[in-house]
Amino acid sequence: MNYLTENLKANKLKVTPQRLAIYSYLVDNCNHPTVETIYNDLKNMFPTMSLATVYKTVASLRDVKLIKEFNVGEDSNRYDAKIETHSHVICKKCNSVSDYFGNIDMQESINDLENLSGFDIDAYDINFYGVCNKCKKQNF
Ligand SMILES: [Zn+2]
Ligand SMILES: [Zn+2]
Repeated sequence: MNYLTENLKANKLKVTPQRLAIYSYLVDNCNHPTVETIYNDLKNMFPTMSLATVYKTVASLRDVKLIKEFNVGEDSNRYDAKIETHSHVICKKCNSVSDYFGNIDMQESINDLENLSGFDIDAYDINFYGVCNKCKKQNF
């Protein structure tokens, strides 16, 4: 039994071949796919799987916090199996989403914000926007 199966069982999710396939697809692909992308990539392997099944599966994985759901301003949400804190670098041209695990020194901004707002800040979520290498090359 691999750790993906164990994670599903630990969260009381029934281990079905489709659920396991969707979860491992998210673990293996760091492109932060939408439900539509997951469905298109897995439908050859699971011809009977519906788009609704993929929606339901990512929702249940998200509810038990095995994956994260986020939106970069598109119609569809993106999904990420990397649940540790990290930032995203988003291309404004092709909407690709990459991970950034580097350290961002936010302490000064957090201090400022706490002083201004009276909040105790315990988490933050940062997106960077720009143009990716691939899109830059296509501009020539
Ligand atoms: Zn791009
Ligand atoms: Zn990510």
